[in-house]
Amino acid sequence: MALKNQYLSDLLSRVKQRNRAEDEFIQAVTEVLESLEPVAEKRPDLVSAGVFERIVEPERVIMFRVPWVDDSGKVQVNRGFRVQFNSAIGPYKGGLRFHPTVYLGIIKFLGFEQIFKNSLTTLPMGGGKGGADFDPKGKSDGEVMRFCQSFMTELCRHIGSDLDVPAGDINVGGREIGFMYGQYKRIRNEFAGVLTGKGLTFGGSLARTEATGYGLCYFTENMLNANGSSFKGKTVVISGSGNVAIYATQKATELGGKVVALSDSNGYIYDPDGIDLDCVKQLKEVERKRIKEYVATHPNATYTEGCNGIWTIKCDIALPCATQNEIDGASAEILVKNGCKAVAEGANMPSTPEAIEVYLKNGVYYGPAKAANAGGVAVSGLEMSQNSERLSWTFEEVDGKLKDIMKSIFDACDEKSKEFGLPGNYMAGANIAGFLKVAEAMKAQGVV
Ligand code: NDP
Repeated sequence: MALKNQYLSDLLSRVKQRNRAEDEFIQAVTEVLESLEPVAEKRPDLVSAGVFERIVEPERVIMFRVPWVDDSGKVQVNRGFRVQFNSAIGPYKGGLRFHPTVYLGIIKFLGFEQIFKNSLTTLPMGGGKGGADFDPKGKSDGEVMRFCQSFMTELCRHIGSDLDVPAGDINVGGREIGFMYGQYKRIRNEFAGVLTGKGLTFGGSLARTEATGYGLCYFTENMLNANGSSFKGKTVVISGSGNVAIYATQKATELGGKVVALSDSNGYIYDPDGIDLDCVKQLKEVERKRIKEYVATHPNATYTEGCNGIWTIKCDIALPCATQNEIDGASAEILVKNGCKAVAEGANMPSTPEAIEVYLKNGVYYGPAKAANAGGVAVSGLEMSQNSERLSWTFEEVDGKLKDIMKSIFDACDEKSKEFGLPGNYMAGANIAGFLKVAEAMKAQGVV
């Protein structure tokens, strides 16, 4: 879709020029600017305050060397990043990703998305993201610890409980957050709520581990209910088998769905009897093994090499929970042909622009990532509140607040989609609702 609004079209050209070769960042900005066309028409005050130009430029980008020594005594060097994108409505907040594919364009796309996602949660959090091109796969606990300590030795200069509060993302879970927190505390000599996703014995929140997957299903249930449907009796396909996928599987099952497939970056499993989640948790959370091991103990299940084939499995609801651009136009066409009625995104930007076009054209209910997976950062926000209060809330209390937040996010997407003449387009609704709150704050704070 080409931008019709000349001002936004010129801005997008400048973004492309200035961020050459950062494809994922350009993809994310393009989608948001396309959704904001009706806002630019209706709100010339935001145009003249330069809000659109300012919001696509990070406030600060930090890139640094991360040297560490592997088990054989060899020096290794990775590259670390923290992008502090926007602090108009609160301290920078967003996860850290450790993956060999990480480069500046990935961290900028994630940080940019995080601005709108955090705004949608209703909590006071700005947008940021970070990570490194480190691959923890096959590394010993000692190597992961030494890497995390080196990473935090630099990062600790740039973060703080009122400044920037990182969390986990791909390959950054409880183990990594623990190692980084220990190093932060040692260097800064303070016990501060400076990371979220911490262990429960040192300031972590109950339900943070479950939050993104549970929140995704709460959002999806709200979206289905608004369209006269629900999870009950539906067949569900979920990609990935990490933190988000595991707890989405649990909640989708509790809500009456039957999850029949999961994947990792090597391939996918299909179990017509419904996924045995205890087995998956043991394999992935405890033993850190590959998903293909599942079929060894489940004779009715099959394993197929290659992860993209998962979208050829017939389902009513698809929840992509692995990584960016994992559903392309062709996979989306197959999903539609097989009768899929809803796609809600646990991963960040898992659908290509072509895939999104297929959903919208075919009336598939589409829950975009920045709304559907905002439960994780929402509970991170609740962890920050508990740390400030020096209190711990019960699981039920946190889960109850998460449910309310996901409902309010869906309602905001729905309302804004209607107000701006695009009823049912929750992507446009999410982009507009997320943008407007940040834009008002930026305008009020002057040109900074
Ligand atoms: P995990 O590291 O726990 O799990 C990631 C899963 O996705 C693994 O199964 C992994 O397989 C698979 N995967 C990763 N990269 C690829 C790839 N290039 N191709 C195919 N599969 C891949 O991460 P999370 O579950 O935390 O994150 C998953 C997604 O959810 C990400 O997009 C993340 O940004 C998003 N997200 C996470 C939040 C959170 O709270 N954790 C919050 C909001 C969004 P393998 O083991 O083979 O690498």
